[in-house]
Amino acid sequence: MFVNTVIWYNVYVTVGAAPPKTQKRENNMKTYQVVHRDDGCWAVVKEGAMRAASVHDTEADAIAAAEALLKTHPGYFLVVEGREQTVVREPSAGYKPAVGAGKAVSDFNLLFGERLQRARIMRGYSLRGLADALEGEYSHTQLQKIEKGLAKTDTRFLARVSRVLKVRSDYFMRQSGLSFQSVEYRSLTKVGKKQRERLKEESFEFFERYLEVESFLNIKNPAFSQVDLRSMAPEALGKAVEQAAVDTRTRWDLGMNPIPNVHSMLEEHGVKVKLFRNALKGFDGLSAFVGTETAKIPVMALSWIEDVPRLRLTALHELAHLRLVFPESLEAREIEKLCHRFAGAFLLPEEPFKRFFGEKRSKVSIPELVAIKQEWGIPCSAIMARAHNAGVVTDGFYRYFCIKANQLKWKTEGEPGRNVWKGTEESARFTQLVHRALSQQLISISKASGLLGCPVEELMYGELSED
Ligand SMILES: [Zn+2]
Repeated sequence: MFVNTVIWYNVYVTVGAAPPKTQKRENNMKTYQVVHRDDGCWAVVKEGAMRAASVHDTEADAIAAAEALLKTHPGYFLVVEGREQTVVREPSAGYKPAVGAGKAVSDFNLLFGERLQRARIMRGYSLRGLADALEGEYSHTQLQKIEKGLAKTDTRFLARVSRVLKVRSDYFMRQSGLSFQSVEYRSLTKVGKKQRERLKEESFEFFERYLEVESFLNIKNPAFSQVDLRSMAPEALGKAVEQAAVDTRTRWDLGMNPIPNVHSMLEEHGVKVKLFRNALKGFDGLSAFVGTETAKIPVMALSWIEDVPRLRLTALHELAHLRLVFPESLEAREIEKLCHRFAGAFLLPEEPFKRFFGEKRSKVSIPELVAIKQEWGIPCSAIMARAHNAGVVTDGFYRYFCIKANQLKWKTEGEPGRNVWKGTEESARFTQLVHRALSQQLISISKASGLLGCPVEELMYGELSED
Protein backbone atom coordinates (compact mmCIF):
# COMPACT_ATOMS: atom_id res chain seq x y z
CA MET A 1 0.00 0.00 0.00
CA PHE A 2 1.19 3.46 -0.87
CA VAL A 3 1.02 6.37 1.47
CA ASN A 4 1.01 10.00 0.52
CA THR A 5 1.47 12.79 2.97
CA VAL A 6 0.27 16.22 2.02
CA ILE A 7 1.72 19.00 4.07
CA TRP A 8 0.20 22.28 3.05
CA TYR A 9 2.22 25.37 2.36
CA ASN A 10 5.46 24.10 3.75
CA VAL A 11 7.90 24.85 0.97
CA TYR A 12 10.25 27.60 1.96
CA VAL A 13 13.49 27.67 0.03
CA THR A 14 15.10 31.01 -0.54
CA VAL A 15 17.63 31.72 -3.26
CA GLY A 16 19.16 34.82 -4.81
CA ALA A 17 17.85 38.27 -4.13
CA ALA A 18 14.74 37.19 -2.31
CA PRO A 19 14.42 38.73 1.13
CA PRO A 20 14.76 36.22 3.93
CA LYS A 21 11.62 35.11 5.67
CA THR A 22 12.48 37.03 8.82
CA GLN A 23 12.74 40.25 6.89
CA LYS A 24 9.40 39.53 5.33
CA ARG A 25 7.91 39.16 8.77
CA GLU A 26 9.58 42.29 10.13
CA ASN A 27 8.37 44.43 7.29
CA ASN A 28 4.96 42.89 7.62
CA MET A 29 4.97 42.49 3.87
CA LYS A 30 1.63 41.52 2.44
CA THR A 31 1.96 38.69 -0.04
CA TYR A 32 0.27 36.27 -2.30
CA GLN A 33 2.27 33.07 -2.49
CA VAL A 34 2.49 30.48 -5.18
CA VAL A 35 3.30 27.22 -3.46
CA HIS A 36 4.14 23.81 -4.84
CA ARG A 37 2.26 21.36 -2.70
CA ASP A 38 3.28 17.81 -2.00
CA ASP A 39 0.29 16.54 -3.95
CA GLY A 40 1.85 18.04 -7.07
CA CYS A 41 -0.57 20.94 -7.42
CA TRP A 42 0.31 24.62 -7.34
CA ALA A 43 -1.66 26.73 -4.92
CA VAL A 44 -2.11 30.48 -4.68
CA VAL A 45 -2.27 31.45 -1.02
CA LYS A 46 -2.91 34.82 0.51
CA GLU A 47 -0.51 35.58 3.33
CA GLY A 48 -2.09 34.53 6.59
CA ALA A 49 -4.96 32.62 4.99
CA MET A 50 -5.36 29.03 6.07
CA ARG A 51 -6.42 27.83 2.66
CA ALA A 52 -5.59 28.38 -0.94
CA ALA A 53 -7.28 31.10 -2.97
CA SER A 54 -7.02 28.76 -5.95
CA VAL A 55 -5.28 25.55 -6.95
CA HIS A 56 -3.72 24.77 -10.34
CA ASP A 57 -2.06 21.93 -12.18
CA THR A 58 0.93 23.94 -13.37
CA GLU A 59 3.15 26.61 -11.93
CA ALA A 60 2.45 28.89 -14.90
CA ASP A 61 -1.30 28.75 -14.30
CA ALA A 62 -0.81 29.49 -10.64
CA ILE A 63 1.45 32.45 -11.35
CA ALA A 64 -1.03 33.80 -13.87
CA ALA A 65 -3.82 33.52 -11.33
CA ALA A 66 -1.68 35.17 -8.65
CA GLU A 67 -0.74 37.97 -11.01
CA ALA A 68 -4.38 38.56 -11.78
CA LEU A 69 -5.04 38.85 -8.06
CA LEU A 70 -2.14 41.25 -7.63
CA LYS A 71 -3.60 43.59 -10.20
CA THR A 72 -6.50 44.19 -7.89
CA HIS A 73 -4.48 44.05 -4.67
CA PRO A 74 -2.18 47.06 -4.68
CA GLY A 75 0.70 46.77 -2.28
CA TYR A 76 0.84 42.99 -2.28
CA PHE A 77 3.99 41.12 -3.24
CA LEU A 78 4.01 37.90 -5.18
CA VAL A 79 6.16 35.15 -3.71
CA VAL A 80 6.70 32.11 -5.88
CA GLU A 81 7.90 29.27 -3.72
CA GLY A 82 9.06 26.62 -6.10
CA ARG A 83 10.84 23.39 -5.35
CA GLU A 84 14.18 24.95 -6.21
CA GLN A 85 13.94 28.62 -5.45
CA THR A 86 11.85 31.42 -4.15
CA VAL A 87 11.19 34.47 -6.24
CA VAL A 88 9.74 37.63 -4.81
CA ARG A 89 8.30 40.25 -7.07
CA GLU A 90 7.52 43.63 -5.70
CA PRO A 91 4.48 45.62 -6.65
CA SER A 92 6.77 48.30 -8.09
CA ALA A 93 8.23 45.78 -10.55
CA GLY A 94 5.28 45.83 -12.85
CA TYR A 95 2.53 44.91 -10.46
CA LYS A 96 0.94 48.30 -9.98
CA PRO A 97 -2.76 48.06 -10.39
CA ALA A 98 -3.59 48.80 -13.97
CA VAL A 99 -5.75 51.85 -14.53
CA GLY A 100 -9.34 50.77 -14.97
CA ALA A 101 -8.52 47.19 -14.11
CA GLY A 102 -11.74 46.91 -12.22
CA LYS A 103 -12.68 47.05 -8.60
CA ALA A 104 -10.58 45.35 -5.97
CA VAL A 105 -11.61 41.83 -5.28
CA SER A 106 -13.26 41.76 -1.92
CA ASP A 107 -12.42 39.24 0.75
CA PHE A 108 -16.00 38.11 0.48
CA ASN A 109 -15.55 37.20 -3.17
CA LEU A 110 -12.39 35.29 -2.35
CA LEU A 111 -14.08 33.37 0.42
CA PHE A 112 -17.11 32.67 -1.71
CA GLY A 113 -14.93 31.51 -4.58
CA GLU A 114 -12.95 29.20 -2.40
CA ARG A 115 -16.08 27.70 -0.86
CA LEU A 116 -17.63 27.28 -4.29
CA GLN A 117 -14.60 25.38 -5.49
CA ARG A 118 -14.64 23.13 -2.44
CA ALA A 119 -18.33 22.37 -2.81
CA ARG A 120 -17.90 21.65 -6.52
CA ILE A 121 -15.05 19.21 -5.83
CA MET A 122 -17.02 17.67 -2.99
CA ARG A 123 -19.87 16.86 -5.38
CA GLY A 124 -17.51 15.62 -8.05
CA TYR A 125 -18.18 18.30 -10.68
CA SER A 126 -15.69 19.71 -13.13
CA LEU A 127 -16.16 23.38 -14.03
CA ARG A 128 -17.83 22.33 -17.25
CA GLY A 129 -19.92 19.77 -15.45
CA LEU A 130 -21.17 22.42 -13.07
CA ALA A 131 -21.91 24.79 -15.94
CA ASP A 132 -24.00 22.02 -17.53
CA ALA A 133 -25.80 21.31 -14.27
CA LEU A 134 -26.66 25.02 -14.10
CA GLU A 135 -28.22 24.55 -17.53
CA GLY A 136 -25.82 26.85 -19.29
CA GLU A 137 -26.95 29.92 -17.41
CA TYR A 138 -23.33 30.47 -16.34
CA SER A 139 -20.39 29.50 -18.52
CA HIS A 140 -17.50 27.51 -17.15
CA THR A 141 -15.20 30.49 -17.56
CA GLN A 142 -17.62 32.61 -15.55
CA LEU A 143 -17.61 29.96 -12.87
CA GLN A 144 -13.85 29.85 -12.92
CA LYS A 145 -13.72 33.60 -12.40
CA ILE A 146 -16.09 33.33 -9.47
CA GLU A 147 -13.99 30.58 -7.94
CA LYS A 148 -10.92 32.73 -8.23
CA GLY A 149 -12.72 35.56 -6.50
CA LEU A 150 -12.51 37.66 -9.65
CA ALA A 151 -16.18 38.04 -10.28
CA LYS A 152 -19.07 39.18 -8.20
CA THR A 153 -21.99 36.92 -7.46
CA ASP A 154 -25.57 37.60 -6.61
CA THR A 155 -28.30 35.96 -4.58
CA ARG A 156 -29.76 34.30 -7.64
CA PHE A 157 -26.47 32.56 -8.37
CA LEU A 158 -26.16 31.58 -4.73
CA ALA A 159 -29.60 30.01 -4.72
CA ARG A 160 -29.02 28.12 -7.97
CA VAL A 161 -25.62 26.81 -7.03
CA SER A 162 -26.74 25.81 -3.51
CA ARG A 163 -29.47 23.69 -5.00
CA VAL A 164 -27.27 22.02 -7.59
CA LEU A 165 -24.42 21.34 -5.17
CA LYS A 166 -26.81 20.33 -2.38
CA VAL A 167 -25.34 22.62 0.25
CA ARG A 168 -27.11 25.26 2.27
CA SER A 169 -26.30 28.81 1.30
CA ASP A 170 -24.57 29.43 4.63
CA TYR A 171 -21.98 26.87 3.56
CA PHE A 172 -20.55 29.56 1.28
CA MET A 173 -20.17 32.01 4.14
CA ARG A 174 -18.54 29.62 6.56
CA GLN A 175 -15.16 30.94 7.50
CA SER A 176 -13.88 28.23 9.79
CA GLY A 177 -10.19 29.04 9.52
CA LEU A 178 -9.59 25.30 9.33
CA SER A 179 -7.33 23.39 7.03
CA PHE A 180 -6.14 19.87 6.60
CA GLN A 181 -2.59 19.85 7.84
CA SER A 182 -1.57 16.43 6.71
CA VAL A 183 -3.45 13.61 5.10
CA GLU A 184 -2.71 9.91 5.08
CA TYR A 185 -4.34 7.83 2.41
CA ARG A 186 -4.59 4.09 2.48
CA SER A 187 -4.92 2.19 -0.77
CA LEU A 188 -4.21 5.40 -2.56
CA THR A 189 -3.42 3.62 -5.79
CA LYS A 190 -6.95 2.25 -6.01
CA VAL A 191 -8.71 5.62 -5.84
CA GLY A 192 -8.32 8.22 -8.56
CA LYS A 193 -7.18 11.74 -7.79
CA LYS A 194 -10.54 13.32 -8.46
CA GLN A 195 -12.37 10.88 -6.23
CA ARG A 196 -9.79 11.36 -3.54
CA GLU A 197 -10.30 15.12 -3.58
CA ARG A 198 -14.01 14.54 -3.40
CA LEU A 199 -13.75 12.28 -0.37
CA LYS A 200 -11.43 14.76 1.25
CA GLU A 201 -13.76 17.71 0.70
CA GLU A 202 -16.80 15.81 1.87
CA SER A 203 -14.98 14.71 5.01
CA PHE A 204 -13.69 18.19 5.57
CA GLU A 205 -17.14 19.67 5.30
CA PHE A 206 -18.35 17.25 8.01
CA PHE A 207 -15.43 18.11 10.32
CA GLU A 208 -16.19 21.81 9.89
CA ARG A 209 -19.76 21.26 11.00
CA TYR A 210 -18.62 19.07 13.87
CA LEU A 211 -16.15 21.62 15.19
CA GLU A 212 -18.67 24.38 14.69
CA VAL A 213 -21.23 22.76 16.96
CA GLU A 214 -18.54 22.01 19.53
CA SER A 215 -17.57 25.67 19.51
CA PHE A 216 -21.21 26.70 20.11
CA LEU A 217 -21.22 24.44 23.15
CA ASN A 218 -17.76 25.57 24.18
CA ILE A 219 -16.52 21.98 24.23
CA LYS A 220 -12.75 21.68 24.33
CA ASN A 221 -11.19 18.69 22.67
CA PRO A 222 -8.95 16.57 24.85
CA ALA A 223 -5.25 16.88 24.10
CA PHE A 224 -4.12 14.27 21.60
CA SER A 225 -0.55 13.21 22.20
CA GLN A 226 1.72 11.43 19.76
CA VAL A 227 4.24 8.70 20.40
CA ASP A 228 7.65 9.55 19.00
CA LEU A 229 9.33 6.46 17.57
CA ARG A 230 11.89 8.33 15.49
CA SER A 231 14.90 7.29 17.52
CA MET A 232 13.88 3.61 17.59
CA ALA A 233 15.93 0.93 15.88
CA PRO A 234 13.94 -0.66 13.03
CA GLU A 235 13.92 -4.11 14.67
CA ALA A 236 12.45 -2.67 17.89
CA LEU A 237 9.53 -0.94 16.19
CA GLY A 238 7.20 -3.95 16.14
CA LYS A 239 7.17 -4.36 19.90
CA ALA A 240 7.14 -0.58 20.36
CA VAL A 241 3.92 -0.11 18.39
CA GLU A 242 2.28 -2.95 20.34
CA GLN A 243 3.32 -1.23 23.55
CA ALA A 244 1.93 2.05 22.23
CA ALA A 245 -1.39 0.30 21.61
CA VAL A 246 -1.49 -1.11 25.15
CA ASP A 247 -0.44 2.26 26.58
CA THR A 248 -3.23 3.98 24.68
CA ARG A 249 -5.73 1.47 26.08
CA THR A 250 -4.46 2.21 29.58
CA ARG A 251 -4.49 5.95 29.04
CA TRP A 252 -8.02 5.81 27.74
CA ASP A 253 -9.16 3.58 30.59
CA LEU A 254 -10.23 0.70 28.39
CA GLY A 255 -8.96 -2.19 30.46
CA MET A 256 -8.14 -5.42 28.63
CA ASN A 257 -11.61 -6.37 27.45
CA PRO A 258 -13.06 -6.37 23.92
CA ILE A 259 -13.88 -2.84 22.72
CA PRO A 260 -17.64 -2.63 22.15
CA ASN A 261 -17.60 0.30 19.71
CA VAL A 262 -14.35 1.61 18.24
CA HIS A 263 -16.03 4.57 16.54
CA SER A 264 -17.57 5.82 19.79
CA MET A 265 -14.36 5.20 21.66
CA LEU A 266 -12.40 7.33 19.19
CA GLU A 267 -14.93 10.15 19.32
CA GLU A 268 -14.91 10.10 23.08
CA HIS A 269 -11.18 10.69 22.99
CA GLY A 270 -11.28 13.59 20.60
CA VAL A 271 -10.85 11.86 17.23
CA LYS A 272 -13.53 12.93 14.76
CA VAL A 273 -14.72 10.17 12.46
CA LYS A 274 -16.56 10.59 9.17
CA LEU A 275 -18.16 7.34 8.12
CA PHE A 276 -19.03 7.01 4.45
CA ARG A 277 -22.08 4.83 4.02
CA ASN A 278 -21.68 4.60 0.26
CA ALA A 279 -18.00 5.04 -0.18
CA LEU A 280 -16.12 4.44 -3.37
CA LYS A 281 -14.68 1.06 -4.15
CA GLY A 282 -11.06 0.74 -3.17
CA PHE A 283 -11.24 3.34 -0.43
CA ASP A 284 -10.65 2.09 3.11
CA GLY A 285 -9.83 5.14 5.09
CA LEU A 286 -7.84 8.31 5.46
CA SER A 287 -6.61 10.18 8.48
CA ALA A 288 -5.42 13.72 8.96
CA PHE A 289 -5.05 16.56 11.37
CA VAL A 290 -7.42 19.44 10.92
CA GLY A 291 -5.89 22.63 12.12
CA THR A 292 -6.94 25.94 13.47
CA GLU A 293 -4.55 28.54 14.74
CA THR A 294 -4.71 27.15 18.23
CA ALA A 295 -5.46 23.47 17.85
CA LYS A 296 -4.67 20.38 15.85
CA ILE A 297 -7.53 17.94 15.81
CA PRO A 298 -7.15 14.32 14.71
CA VAL A 299 -9.75 13.20 12.18
CA MET A 300 -10.39 10.18 9.99
CA ALA A 301 -12.77 9.13 7.26
CA LEU A 302 -13.75 5.50 6.84
CA SER A 303 -15.66 3.53 4.31
CA TRP A 304 -18.42 1.31 5.68
CA ILE A 305 -17.88 -2.41 5.17
CA GLU A 306 -20.27 -5.17 5.99
CA ASP A 307 -17.59 -7.20 7.73
CA VAL A 308 -17.47 -4.82 10.71
CA PRO A 309 -14.34 -6.25 12.39
CA ARG A 310 -12.43 -5.14 9.28
CA LEU A 311 -13.84 -1.63 9.68
CA ARG A 312 -12.70 -1.64 13.32
CA LEU A 313 -9.23 -2.71 12.29
CA THR A 314 -9.07 0.03 9.64
CA ALA A 315 -10.17 2.67 12.16
CA LEU A 316 -7.39 1.67 14.53
CA HIS A 317 -4.91 1.49 11.66
CA GLU A 318 -5.77 5.13 10.96
CA LEU A 319 -5.42 5.91 14.65
CA ALA A 320 -1.88 4.50 14.43
CA HIS A 321 -1.09 6.94 11.60
CA LEU A 322 -2.27 9.78 13.80
CA ARG A 323 -0.70 8.68 17.02
CA LEU A 324 2.67 7.31 15.98
CA VAL A 325 5.57 9.32 14.60
CA PHE A 326 7.78 6.93 12.63
CA PRO A 327 11.44 7.33 11.68
CA GLU A 328 11.62 9.34 8.46
CA SER A 329 13.73 6.69 6.74
CA LEU A 330 11.02 4.07 7.13
CA GLU A 331 9.38 2.91 3.90
CA ALA A 332 5.66 3.42 3.43
CA ARG A 333 5.12 -0.32 3.19
CA GLU A 334 6.76 -0.85 6.58
CA ILE A 335 4.66 1.92 8.10
CA GLU A 336 1.52 0.24 6.81
CA LYS A 337 2.55 -3.05 8.41
CA LEU A 338 3.30 -1.39 11.72
CA CYS A 339 -0.01 0.48 11.70
CA HIS A 340 -1.74 -2.85 11.18
CA ARG A 341 0.20 -4.32 14.04
CA PHE A 342 -0.85 -1.44 16.29
CA ALA A 343 -4.48 -1.97 15.26
CA GLY A 344 -4.33 -5.72 15.97
CA ALA A 345 -2.69 -5.20 19.34
CA PHE A 346 -5.27 -2.56 20.20
CA LEU A 347 -8.21 -4.83 19.39
CA LEU A 348 -6.63 -7.89 20.99
CA PRO A 349 -3.74 -7.25 23.37
CA GLU A 350 -1.16 -9.97 23.85
CA GLU A 351 -1.81 -10.62 27.51
CA PRO A 352 -5.47 -11.74 27.34
CA PHE A 353 -4.84 -13.28 23.91
CA LYS A 354 -2.19 -15.70 25.13
CA ARG A 355 -4.33 -16.60 28.12
CA PHE A 356 -7.16 -18.05 26.05
CA PHE A 357 -5.28 -18.93 22.87
CA GLY A 358 -2.25 -20.59 24.46
CA GLU A 359 1.49 -19.92 24.40
CA LYS A 360 2.35 -22.27 21.50
CA ARG A 361 0.12 -23.57 18.74
CA SER A 362 0.91 -25.77 15.75
CA LYS A 363 -2.72 -26.28 14.70
CA VAL A 364 -5.62 -23.81 14.52
CA SER A 365 -9.09 -24.27 13.04
CA ILE A 366 -11.18 -21.73 11.20
CA PRO A 367 -14.17 -22.14 13.58
CA GLU A 368 -11.89 -21.22 16.48
CA LEU A 369 -10.77 -18.06 14.64
CA VAL A 370 -14.41 -17.19 13.92
CA ALA A 371 -15.25 -17.65 17.61
CA ILE A 372 -12.47 -15.21 18.59
CA LYS A 373 -13.67 -12.82 15.90
CA GLN A 374 -17.15 -12.98 17.40
CA GLU A 375 -15.85 -12.27 20.88
CA TRP A 376 -13.28 -9.55 20.12
CA GLY A 377 -14.44 -8.04 16.83
CA ILE A 378 -11.12 -8.62 15.08
CA PRO A 379 -10.73 -10.21 11.61
CA CYS A 380 -9.55 -13.85 11.46
CA SER A 381 -6.48 -12.86 9.44
CA ALA A 382 -5.53 -10.27 12.07
CA ILE A 383 -5.86 -12.91 14.82
CA MET A 384 -3.31 -15.05 13.02
CA ALA A 385 -1.02 -12.04 12.60
CA ARG A 386 -1.33 -11.49 16.35
CA ALA A 387 -0.40 -15.13 16.98
CA HIS A 388 2.62 -14.74 14.72
CA ASN A 389 3.79 -11.47 16.29
CA ALA A 390 3.38 -12.92 19.76
CA GLY A 391 5.48 -15.95 18.82
CA VAL A 392 2.55 -18.33 19.39
CA VAL A 393 2.84 -19.77 15.86
CA THR A 394 6.07 -20.23 13.91
CA ASP A 395 7.05 -18.23 10.81
CA GLY A 396 6.47 -21.35 8.73
CA PHE A 397 2.98 -21.95 10.07
CA TYR A 398 2.04 -18.30 9.56
CA ARG A 399 3.33 -18.42 5.98
CA TYR A 400 1.26 -21.55 5.39
CA PHE A 401 -1.80 -19.76 6.81
CA CYS A 402 -1.29 -16.77 4.51
CA ILE A 403 -1.05 -19.00 1.45
CA LYS A 404 -4.17 -20.88 2.53
CA ALA A 405 -6.12 -17.66 3.15
CA ASN A 406 -5.03 -16.48 -0.27
CA GLN A 407 -6.25 -19.69 -1.90
CA LEU A 408 -9.57 -19.25 -0.11
CA LYS A 409 -9.72 -15.67 -1.46
CA TRP A 410 -10.20 -14.13 1.96
CA LYS A 411 -8.81 -10.79 0.82
CA THR A 412 -10.87 -10.43 -2.31
CA GLU A 413 -14.08 -12.25 -1.44
CA GLY A 414 -14.14 -11.81 2.31
CA GLU A 415 -13.21 -14.05 5.17
CA PRO A 416 -15.44 -16.32 7.27
CA GLY A 417 -17.67 -15.00 10.02
CA ARG A 418 -18.88 -11.95 8.15
CA ASN A 419 -21.80 -11.34 10.49
CA VAL A 420 -20.62 -12.82 13.76
CA TRP A 421 -19.69 -9.53 15.41
CA LYS A 422 -22.90 -8.19 16.90
CA GLY A 423 -21.67 -4.83 18.13
CA THR A 424 -22.61 -1.55 16.51
CA GLU A 425 -19.91 0.59 14.96
CA GLU A 426 -21.34 4.04 14.90
CA SER A 427 -21.28 7.13 17.02
CA ALA A 428 -24.20 9.50 17.55
CA ARG A 429 -22.07 12.09 19.34
CA PHE A 430 -22.28 14.75 16.63
CA THR A 431 -26.07 14.37 16.33
CA GLN A 432 -26.46 14.56 20.10
CA LEU A 433 -24.37 17.74 20.30
CA VAL A 434 -26.45 19.47 17.62
CA HIS A 435 -29.65 18.58 19.46
CA ARG A 436 -28.12 19.82 22.68
CA ALA A 437 -27.10 23.13 21.12
CA LEU A 438 -30.63 23.48 19.73
CA SER A 439 -32.27 22.69 23.09
CA GLN A 440 -30.03 25.16 24.88
CA GLN A 441 -31.02 27.74 22.25
CA LEU A 442 -27.44 28.27 21.22
CA ILE A 443 -28.38 27.72 17.59
CA SER A 444 -31.54 28.25 15.58
CA ILE A 445 -33.63 25.43 14.21
CA SER A 446 -32.55 26.24 10.67
CA LYS A 447 -28.92 26.20 11.75
CA ALA A 448 -29.46 22.78 13.34
CA SER A 449 -31.10 21.54 10.19
CA GLY A 450 -28.10 22.76 8.21
CA LEU A 451 -25.65 21.09 10.54
CA LEU A 452 -27.48 17.77 10.52
CA GLY A 453 -28.49 17.96 6.87
CA CYS A 454 -32.09 17.09 7.71
CA PRO A 455 -35.38 18.96 7.14
CA VAL A 456 -36.51 21.48 9.76
CA GLU A 457 -39.74 19.50 10.33
CA GLU A 458 -37.74 16.58 11.64
CA LEU A 459 -36.36 18.76 14.38
CA MET A 460 -39.68 20.18 15.47
CA TYR A 461 -40.93 17.44 17.72
CA GLY A 462 -40.19 15.80 21.03
CA GLU A 463 -39.17 18.79 23.08
CA LEU A 464 -39.28 18.09 26.80
CA SER A 465 -38.91 21.00 29.14
CA GLU A 466 -39.06 21.75 32.83
CA ASP A 467 -41.62 24.53 32.54
ZN1 LIG B 1 -2.04 3.29 6.36
